[in-house]
Amino acid sequence: MSTDCDVLIAGAGPAGAALACALSPLPLRVWLVDAAPPPAPGQPDRRALALGLGSQRILQGLGAWPALAPQAVPIARLEVTEKGWPGVTRMAAVDVRAPALGWVVGDRVLQRALLARVAETAVTRRAAAVTALTPRDGALDVTLSGPEGDTAVSTRLLVAADGSDSTVCRLAGLPRRARQTQDSVLLAQLRTDRPHAGTAHERFAASGPMALLPGCAAGDYTLVWTLPHERASDLAALPPQHLAPIAQEAFGWRAGKFLGLSNPRSVRLAESWLVQATGERVLAIGNAANTLHPIAAQGFNLGLRDVAAVAGLLAAAAAGQDDPGAAGLLAAYQRARQDDWRQLRQVTGWLPRLFENPAPPLAGARGLGLAALDLLAPVKRRLMTRAMGLGGAQNRLQRGRWP
Ligand SMILES: Cc1cc2nc3c(=O)[nH]c(=O)nc-3n(C[C@H](O)[C@H](O)[C@H](O)COP(=O)(O)OP(=O)(O)OC[C@H]3O[C@@H](n4cnc5c(N)ncnc54)[C@H](O)[C@@H]3O)c2cc1C
Repeated sequence: MSTDCDVLIAGAGPAGAALACALSPLPLRVWLVDAAPPPAPGQPDRRALALGLGSQRILQGLGAWPALAPQAVPIARLEVTEKGWPGVTRMAAVDVRAPALGWVVGDRVLQRALLARVAETAVTRRAAAVTALTPRDGALDVTLSGPEGDTAVSTRLLVAADGSDSTVCRLAGLPRRARQTQDSVLLAQLRTDRPHAGTAHERFAASGPMALLPGCAAGDYTLVWTLPHERASDLAALPPQHLAPIAQEAFGWRAGKFLGLSNPRSVRLAESWLVQATGERVLAIGNAANTLHPIAAQGFNLGLRDVAAVAGLLAAAAAGQDDPGAAGLLAAYQRARQDDWRQLRQVTGWLPRLFENPAPPLAGARGLGLAALDLLAPVKRRLMTRAMGLGGAQNRLQRGRWP
Protein backbone atom coordinates (compact mmCIF):
# COMPACT_ATOMS: atom_id res chain seq x y z
CA MET A 1 0.00 0.00 0.00
CA SER A 2 1.66 3.26 -1.06
CA THR A 3 1.06 6.30 1.14
CA ASP A 4 2.25 9.92 1.19
CA CYS A 5 3.69 9.56 4.68
CA ASP A 6 4.19 7.03 7.45
CA VAL A 7 3.25 9.29 10.36
CA LEU A 8 1.14 12.44 10.13
CA ILE A 9 1.19 14.54 13.30
CA ALA A 10 -1.82 16.86 13.62
CA GLY A 11 -0.84 19.82 15.82
CA ALA A 12 2.51 21.60 16.08
CA GLY A 13 2.05 22.66 19.72
CA PRO A 14 4.78 21.55 22.13
CA ALA A 15 3.63 17.90 22.15
CA GLY A 16 3.37 17.53 18.36
CA ALA A 17 6.63 19.42 17.77
CA ALA A 18 8.43 17.24 20.34
CA LEU A 19 7.17 14.08 18.64
CA ALA A 20 8.29 15.37 15.22
CA CYS A 21 11.80 15.92 16.65
CA ALA A 22 11.78 12.42 18.15
CA LEU A 23 10.72 10.72 14.92
CA SER A 24 13.00 12.74 12.63
CA PRO A 25 16.09 10.47 12.93
CA LEU A 26 14.02 7.31 12.27
CA PRO A 27 13.57 5.87 8.77
CA LEU A 28 9.98 7.19 8.57
CA ARG A 29 8.33 9.84 6.38
CA VAL A 30 6.92 12.27 8.95
CA TRP A 31 4.56 15.20 8.35
CA LEU A 32 3.70 17.87 10.93
CA VAL A 33 0.61 19.96 10.16
CA ASP A 34 -0.99 22.92 11.96
CA ALA A 35 -3.10 25.76 10.60
CA ALA A 36 -2.01 28.16 13.36
CA PRO A 37 1.21 30.08 12.67
CA PRO A 38 4.14 29.25 14.97
CA PRO A 39 4.73 31.79 17.76
CA ALA A 40 6.69 34.77 16.45
CA PRO A 41 10.08 35.59 17.98
CA GLY A 42 9.54 37.82 21.00
CA GLN A 43 5.82 36.97 21.29
CA PRO A 44 5.14 36.87 25.05
CA ASP A 45 4.56 33.54 26.77
CA ARG A 46 1.02 32.66 27.80
CA ARG A 47 2.23 30.73 30.80
CA ALA A 48 5.31 29.45 32.59
CA LEU A 49 5.69 25.67 32.55
CA ALA A 50 7.45 23.77 35.32
CA LEU A 51 9.24 20.85 33.69
CA GLY A 52 10.67 18.01 35.77
CA LEU A 53 14.17 16.57 35.43
CA GLY A 54 12.63 13.68 33.45
CA SER A 55 11.28 16.13 30.86
CA GLN A 56 14.61 17.95 30.69
CA ARG A 57 16.30 14.64 29.80
CA ILE A 58 13.78 14.03 27.00
CA LEU A 59 14.33 17.55 25.65
CA GLN A 60 18.07 16.90 25.84
CA GLY A 61 17.59 13.71 23.82
CA LEU A 62 15.59 15.67 21.24
CA GLY A 63 18.41 18.20 20.89
CA ALA A 64 16.17 21.09 22.03
CA TRP A 65 17.71 21.64 25.46
CA PRO A 66 20.83 23.65 24.43
CA ALA A 67 18.52 26.39 23.03
CA LEU A 68 16.27 26.25 26.10
CA ALA A 69 18.86 26.07 28.86
CA PRO A 70 19.84 29.79 28.85
CA GLN A 71 16.16 30.75 29.29
CA ALA A 72 15.21 28.02 31.80
CA VAL A 73 15.14 28.79 35.54
CA PRO A 74 16.25 25.84 37.68
CA ILE A 75 14.04 24.77 40.60
CA ALA A 76 16.46 23.87 43.38
CA ARG A 77 13.80 23.22 46.02
CA LEU A 78 10.05 23.08 46.55
CA GLU A 79 8.20 24.03 49.72
CA VAL A 80 4.67 22.75 50.27
CA THR A 81 2.80 24.59 53.02
CA GLU A 82 -0.67 25.47 54.24
CA LYS A 83 -1.32 29.10 55.12
CA GLY A 84 -1.95 29.56 58.84
CA TRP A 85 -0.41 26.23 59.88
CA PRO A 86 3.21 25.45 60.69
CA GLY A 87 3.71 22.13 58.80
CA VAL A 88 6.04 22.22 55.81
CA THR A 89 7.31 19.63 53.36
CA ARG A 90 10.62 20.62 51.78
CA MET A 91 11.98 18.87 48.73
CA ALA A 92 15.45 19.72 47.48
CA ALA A 93 17.43 18.64 44.43
CA VAL A 94 20.45 17.87 46.64
CA ASP A 95 18.38 15.24 48.51
CA VAL A 96 18.14 13.20 45.31
CA ARG A 97 21.60 14.22 44.03
CA ALA A 98 20.02 15.91 40.99
CA PRO A 99 21.14 19.16 39.34
CA ALA A 100 17.58 20.52 39.85
CA LEU A 101 14.09 19.23 40.61
CA GLY A 102 13.00 20.82 37.37
CA TRP A 103 13.11 24.03 35.34
CA VAL A 104 10.65 26.82 34.60
CA VAL A 105 10.31 27.61 30.88
CA GLY A 106 7.93 29.88 28.95
CA ASP A 107 5.44 27.91 26.83
CA ARG A 108 6.22 29.83 23.64
CA VAL A 109 9.96 29.72 24.26
CA LEU A 110 9.57 25.95 24.47
CA GLN A 111 7.42 25.65 21.34
CA ARG A 112 9.80 27.87 19.34
CA ALA A 113 12.85 25.83 20.43
CA LEU A 114 11.16 22.58 19.39
CA LEU A 115 9.98 23.96 16.05
CA ALA A 116 13.48 25.30 15.36
CA ARG A 117 14.78 21.75 15.86
CA VAL A 118 12.08 20.38 13.53
CA ALA A 119 13.20 22.90 10.88
CA GLU A 120 16.66 21.30 10.94
CA THR A 121 15.23 17.90 10.01
CA ALA A 122 13.59 16.28 6.97
CA VAL A 123 10.11 16.45 8.59
CA THR A 124 7.56 17.91 6.12
CA ARG A 125 5.65 20.93 7.52
CA ARG A 126 2.25 22.09 6.22
CA ALA A 127 0.12 25.07 7.34
CA ALA A 128 -3.17 23.18 7.41
CA ALA A 129 -5.68 21.58 9.76
CA VAL A 130 -6.93 18.02 9.65
CA THR A 131 -10.63 18.30 8.81
CA ALA A 132 -11.67 14.79 7.69
CA LEU A 133 -10.39 11.24 7.71
CA THR A 134 -11.42 8.02 6.04
CA PRO A 135 -9.88 4.65 6.85
CA ARG A 136 -9.05 2.44 3.89
CA ASP A 137 -7.18 -0.80 3.58
CA GLY A 138 -3.77 -0.36 5.26
CA ALA A 139 -3.93 3.45 5.47
CA LEU A 140 -5.92 6.52 6.44
CA ASP A 141 -6.97 9.16 3.94
CA VAL A 142 -6.75 12.54 5.63
CA THR A 143 -8.12 15.87 4.39
CA LEU A 144 -5.90 18.86 5.15
CA SER A 145 -7.52 22.29 4.91
CA GLY A 146 -5.17 25.21 4.49
CA PRO A 147 -4.95 28.62 2.83
CA GLU A 148 -4.79 26.96 -0.61
CA GLY A 149 -7.88 24.82 -0.06
CA ASP A 150 -8.20 21.13 0.69
CA THR A 151 -5.58 18.45 -0.01
CA ALA A 152 -5.91 14.69 0.42
CA VAL A 153 -2.98 12.91 2.08
CA SER A 154 -2.65 9.25 2.98
CA THR A 155 -0.77 8.06 6.05
CA ARG A 156 -0.19 4.83 7.91
CA LEU A 157 -0.49 6.48 11.34
CA LEU A 158 -2.21 9.72 12.37
CA VAL A 159 -1.18 11.24 15.71
CA ALA A 160 -3.69 13.55 17.40
CA ALA A 161 -1.55 16.29 19.00
CA ASP A 162 -4.23 18.90 18.38
CA GLY A 163 -4.95 19.89 21.97
CA SER A 164 -7.90 19.74 24.37
CA ASP A 165 -10.62 20.22 21.79
CA SER A 166 -9.10 17.63 19.46
CA THR A 167 -10.81 17.46 16.06
CA VAL A 168 -8.83 14.34 15.20
CA CYS A 169 -10.10 12.46 18.26
CA ARG A 170 -13.64 13.50 17.39
CA LEU A 171 -13.27 12.43 13.76
CA ALA A 172 -11.77 9.11 14.90
CA GLY A 173 -14.66 8.58 17.33
CA LEU A 174 -12.43 8.32 20.43
CA PRO A 175 -14.70 8.64 23.51
CA ARG A 176 -13.85 11.59 25.80
CA ARG A 177 -14.84 12.12 29.43
CA ALA A 178 -14.93 15.54 31.10
CA ARG A 179 -14.74 16.60 34.76
CA GLN A 180 -16.90 19.60 35.60
CA THR A 181 -14.87 22.34 37.23
CA GLN A 182 -15.70 25.88 38.32
CA ASP A 183 -11.99 26.63 38.70
CA SER A 184 -9.92 29.18 36.84
CA VAL A 185 -6.32 30.11 37.43
CA LEU A 186 -5.17 33.64 37.96
CA LEU A 187 -1.72 34.10 36.44
CA ALA A 188 0.53 37.10 37.09
CA GLN A 189 4.17 38.09 37.30
CA LEU A 190 5.25 38.92 40.82
CA ARG A 191 8.25 40.80 42.21
CA THR A 192 9.23 40.26 45.84
CA ASP A 193 11.87 41.76 48.10
CA ARG A 194 13.54 38.37 48.81
CA PRO A 195 15.75 36.38 46.39
CA HIS A 196 14.04 33.07 45.64
CA ALA A 197 17.32 31.11 45.32
CA GLY A 198 15.51 28.65 43.07
CA THR A 199 12.67 27.92 45.52
CA ALA A 200 9.20 27.12 44.17
CA HIS A 201 6.22 27.31 46.55
CA GLU A 202 2.99 25.31 46.59
CA ARG A 203 0.83 27.02 49.22
CA PHE A 204 -2.61 25.82 50.16
CA ALA A 205 -4.54 28.93 51.12
CA ALA A 206 -8.19 29.30 52.16
CA SER A 207 -9.00 31.08 48.88
CA GLY A 208 -7.43 28.29 46.77
CA PRO A 209 -4.03 26.68 46.07
CA MET A 210 -1.29 29.14 45.09
CA ALA A 211 1.96 28.26 43.32
CA LEU A 212 4.95 30.55 42.94
CA LEU A 213 7.38 29.49 40.22
CA PRO A 214 10.81 31.15 40.34
CA GLY A 215 11.55 33.58 37.52
CA CYS A 216 14.72 34.86 35.82
CA ALA A 217 15.45 37.69 38.26
CA ALA A 218 16.28 36.96 41.92
CA GLY A 219 12.96 38.05 43.47
CA ASP A 220 10.66 37.32 40.51
CA TYR A 221 8.00 34.64 40.38
CA THR A 222 5.06 33.57 38.25
CA LEU A 223 1.94 33.36 40.41
CA VAL A 224 -0.51 30.54 39.58
CA TRP A 225 -3.56 30.89 41.84
CA THR A 226 -6.49 28.50 41.54
CA LEU A 227 -9.79 30.25 42.28
CA PRO A 228 -13.49 29.95 41.48
CA HIS A 229 -13.97 31.33 37.99
CA GLU A 230 -15.81 34.55 38.89
CA ARG A 231 -13.38 35.44 41.66
CA ALA A 232 -10.42 34.91 39.30
CA SER A 233 -11.87 37.14 36.59
CA ASP A 234 -12.84 39.83 39.14
CA LEU A 235 -9.31 39.84 40.57
CA ALA A 236 -7.71 39.83 37.11
CA ALA A 237 -9.71 42.97 36.25
CA LEU A 238 -8.31 44.90 39.24
CA PRO A 239 -5.46 47.37 38.76
CA PRO A 240 -2.30 45.35 39.56
CA GLN A 241 -1.39 47.68 42.47
CA HIS A 242 -4.70 46.72 44.14
CA LEU A 243 -4.28 43.03 43.41
CA ALA A 244 -0.77 42.73 44.94
CA PRO A 245 -1.91 43.27 48.58
CA ILE A 246 -4.82 40.85 48.08
CA ALA A 247 -2.42 38.19 46.81
CA GLN A 248 -0.05 38.95 49.71
CA GLU A 249 -2.86 38.58 52.25
CA ALA A 250 -3.89 35.25 50.70
CA PHE A 251 -0.33 33.87 50.42
CA GLY A 252 1.25 35.31 53.56
CA TRP A 253 4.90 36.30 53.91
CA ARG A 254 6.70 33.05 53.22
CA ALA A 255 8.24 34.39 49.99
CA GLY A 256 8.82 37.92 51.33
CA LYS A 257 7.00 41.17 50.61
CA PHE A 258 5.18 41.42 47.28
CA LEU A 259 6.63 44.60 45.78
CA GLY A 260 4.73 44.58 42.52
CA LEU A 261 2.51 42.49 40.33
CA SER A 262 2.01 42.71 36.56
CA ASN A 263 0.06 41.20 33.68
CA PRO A 264 -2.72 39.52 35.71
CA ARG A 265 -4.97 37.33 33.59
CA SER A 266 -7.44 34.58 34.33
CA VAL A 267 -7.62 31.29 32.44
CA ARG A 268 -10.74 29.16 32.70
CA LEU A 269 -9.87 25.51 33.27
CA ALA A 270 -11.33 22.55 31.45
CA GLU A 271 -10.55 18.96 32.33
CA SER A 272 -11.11 16.09 29.95
CA TRP A 273 -9.45 12.88 28.84
CA LEU A 274 -9.89 10.03 26.43
CA VAL A 275 -11.29 6.78 27.74
CA GLN A 276 -9.31 5.04 24.99
CA ALA A 277 -6.47 7.01 23.36
CA THR A 278 -6.19 4.88 20.22
CA GLY A 279 -8.46 4.10 17.26
CA GLU A 280 -7.98 2.72 13.77
CA ARG A 281 -4.47 4.00 12.78
CA VAL A 282 -4.88 6.89 15.22
CA LEU A 283 -3.35 7.63 18.61
CA ALA A 284 -3.50 10.70 20.83
CA ILE A 285 -0.76 12.45 22.83
CA GLY A 286 -0.47 15.54 25.05
CA ASN A 287 -3.55 17.62 25.77
CA ALA A 288 -5.52 15.77 23.09
CA ALA A 289 -5.27 12.67 25.30
CA ASN A 290 -5.40 14.34 28.75
CA THR A 291 -6.22 17.93 29.65
CA LEU A 292 -5.76 18.08 33.41
CA HIS A 293 -5.91 20.65 36.21
CA PRO A 294 -2.53 22.44 36.32
CA ILE A 295 -2.31 22.13 40.13
CA ALA A 296 0.44 19.53 39.96
CA ALA A 297 2.23 21.33 37.06
CA GLN A 298 2.32 18.01 35.22
CA GLY A 299 0.32 18.46 31.96
CA PHE A 300 3.16 18.85 29.50
CA ASN A 301 5.44 16.56 31.54
CA LEU A 302 2.81 13.87 30.98
CA GLY A 303 2.62 14.78 27.29
CA LEU A 304 6.39 14.40 26.91
CA ARG A 305 6.17 10.93 28.42
CA ASP A 306 3.54 10.14 25.73
CA VAL A 307 6.07 11.35 23.15
CA ALA A 308 8.78 9.10 24.61
CA ALA A 309 6.47 6.08 24.56
CA VAL A 310 5.34 6.65 20.94
CA ALA A 311 8.93 7.28 19.83
CA GLY A 312 10.17 4.08 21.50
CA LEU A 313 7.44 1.97 19.88
CA LEU A 314 7.89 3.53 16.43
CA ALA A 315 11.69 3.11 16.60
CA ALA A 316 11.21 -0.61 17.25
CA ALA A 317 8.62 -0.85 14.44
CA ALA A 318 10.87 1.01 12.00
CA ALA A 319 13.82 -1.26 12.86
CA GLY A 320 11.68 -4.31 12.03
CA GLN A 321 10.11 -2.58 9.00
CA ASP A 322 6.74 -3.08 10.69
CA ASP A 323 3.59 -1.09 10.01
CA PRO A 324 3.65 2.06 12.23
CA GLY A 325 -0.16 2.03 12.42
CA ALA A 326 -0.52 -1.65 13.30
CA ALA A 327 -3.18 -2.52 15.87
CA GLY A 328 -0.57 -4.25 18.06
CA LEU A 329 1.56 -1.09 18.28
CA LEU A 330 -1.49 1.02 19.18
CA ALA A 331 -2.51 -1.48 21.88
CA ALA A 332 1.04 -1.41 23.28
CA TYR A 333 0.89 2.39 23.48
CA GLN A 334 -2.40 2.33 25.38
CA ARG A 335 -1.03 -0.32 27.78
CA ALA A 336 2.24 1.54 28.32
CA ARG A 337 0.59 4.86 29.15
CA GLN A 338 -2.70 4.12 30.91
CA ASP A 339 -1.41 3.79 34.51
CA ASP A 340 0.48 7.09 34.34
CA TRP A 341 -2.62 8.81 32.89
CA ARG A 342 -4.97 7.30 35.49
CA GLN A 343 -2.74 8.21 38.44
CA LEU A 344 -2.36 11.82 37.34
CA ARG A 345 -6.10 12.18 36.69
CA GLN A 346 -6.72 10.97 40.24
CA VAL A 347 -4.16 13.32 41.82
CA THR A 348 -5.39 16.37 39.88
CA GLY A 349 -8.95 15.43 40.87
CA TRP A 350 -8.46 15.38 44.64
CA LEU A 351 -5.52 17.73 45.20
CA PRO A 352 -7.39 21.03 44.52
CA ARG A 353 -10.09 19.92 47.02
CA LEU A 354 -7.82 18.44 49.73
CA PHE A 355 -7.12 21.74 51.47
CA GLU A 356 -10.60 23.19 50.93
CA ASN A 357 -11.89 22.69 54.48
CA PRO A 358 -10.27 25.28 56.79
CA ALA A 359 -11.81 23.81 60.02
CA PRO A 360 -9.15 23.30 62.74
CA PRO A 361 -9.20 19.50 63.22
CA LEU A 362 -8.75 18.85 59.51
CA ALA A 363 -6.39 21.74 58.87
CA GLY A 364 -4.29 20.79 61.90
CA ALA A 365 -4.07 17.20 60.73
CA ARG A 366 -2.92 18.39 57.30
CA GLY A 367 -0.26 20.56 58.92
CA LEU A 368 0.95 17.56 60.89
CA GLY A 369 0.85 15.49 57.70
CA LEU A 370 3.09 17.97 55.86
CA ALA A 371 5.51 18.06 58.80
CA ALA A 372 5.51 14.24 59.07
CA LEU A 373 6.09 13.83 55.34
CA ASP A 374 9.08 16.12 55.66
CA LEU A 375 10.62 13.67 58.12
CA LEU A 376 9.80 10.52 56.16
CA ALA A 377 12.79 10.64 53.83
CA PRO A 378 12.11 7.43 51.81
CA VAL A 379 8.44 8.34 51.18
CA LYS A 380 9.42 11.87 50.28
CA ARG A 381 12.12 10.64 47.90
CA ARG A 382 9.63 8.34 46.16
CA LEU A 383 7.17 11.22 45.74
CA MET A 384 9.91 13.48 44.42
CA THR A 385 11.10 10.89 41.93
CA ARG A 386 7.58 10.54 40.54
CA ALA A 387 6.96 14.29 40.43
CA MET A 388 10.26 14.74 38.56
CA GLY A 389 9.08 12.25 35.93
CA LEU A 390 11.69 9.64 36.85
CA GLY A 391 9.33 6.91 38.14
CA GLY A 392 8.95 3.54 36.42
CA ALA A 393 10.94 2.08 33.53
CA GLN A 394 12.71 4.71 31.41
CA ASN A 395 13.32 4.14 27.71
CA ARG A 396 16.32 5.50 25.76
CA LEU A 397 14.72 8.86 25.03
CA GLN A 398 13.78 9.27 28.70
CA ARG A 399 17.43 8.71 29.56
CA GLY A 400 18.34 11.55 27.18
CA ARG A 401 19.91 9.29 24.55
CA TRP A 402 18.25 9.26 21.16
CA PRO A 403 17.76 7.60 18.75
C1 LIG B 1 -2.56 27.70 33.55
C2 LIG B 1 -1.81 26.49 33.09
C3 LIG B 1 -0.58 26.19 33.66
C4 LIG B 1 0.12 25.06 33.24
N1 LIG B 1 1.30 24.76 33.85
C5 LIG B 1 1.97 23.65 33.48
C6 LIG B 1 3.21 23.32 34.10
O1 LIG B 1 3.70 24.04 34.98
N2 LIG B 1 3.87 22.19 33.70
C7 LIG B 1 3.36 21.38 32.72
O2 LIG B 1 3.98 20.36 32.40
N3 LIG B 1 2.18 21.67 32.11
C8 LIG B 1 1.48 22.78 32.46
N4 LIG B 1 0.31 23.08 31.82
C9 LIG B 1 -0.16 22.22 30.72
C10 LIG B 1 0.50 22.55 29.38
O3 LIG B 1 0.33 23.92 29.07
C11 LIG B 1 -0.12 21.70 28.28
O4 LIG B 1 -0.04 20.35 28.66
C12 LIG B 1 0.58 21.84 26.93
O5 LIG B 1 0.64 23.17 26.52
C13 LIG B 1 -0.19 21.04 25.88
O6 LIG B 1 0.51 21.02 24.67
P1 LIG B 1 -0.11 20.27 23.41
O7 LIG B 1 0.91 20.41 22.32
O8 LIG B 1 -0.61 18.93 23.78
O9 LIG B 1 -1.44 21.11 23.03
P2 LIG B 1 -1.61 22.59 22.48
O10 LIG B 1 -0.56 23.49 23.01
O11 LIG B 1 -3.03 22.95 22.70
O12 LIG B 1 -1.34 22.46 20.88
C14 LIG B 1 -2.29 21.94 20.01
C15 LIG B 1 -1.96 22.43 18.59
O13 LIG B 1 -2.83 21.75 17.67
C16 LIG B 1 -3.26 22.65 16.69
N5 LIG B 1 -4.52 22.14 16.11
C17 LIG B 1 -5.77 22.25 16.62
N6 LIG B 1 -6.65 21.63 15.80
C18 LIG B 1 -5.93 21.11 14.77
C19 LIG B 1 -6.27 20.35 13.62
N7 LIG B 1 -7.53 19.98 13.37
N8 LIG B 1 -5.29 19.97 12.76
C20 LIG B 1 -3.99 20.30 13.01
N9 LIG B 1 -3.62 21.03 14.10
C21 LIG B 1 -4.57 21.42 14.96
C22 LIG B 1 -3.38 23.98 17.41
O14 LIG B 1 -3.30 25.07 16.50
C23 LIG B 1 -2.19 23.92 18.39
O15 LIG B 1 -1.04 24.49 17.83
C24 LIG B 1 -0.42 24.21 32.23
C25 LIG B 1 -1.65 24.52 31.65
C26 LIG B 1 -2.35 25.63 32.07
C27 LIG B 1 -3.69 25.93 31.45
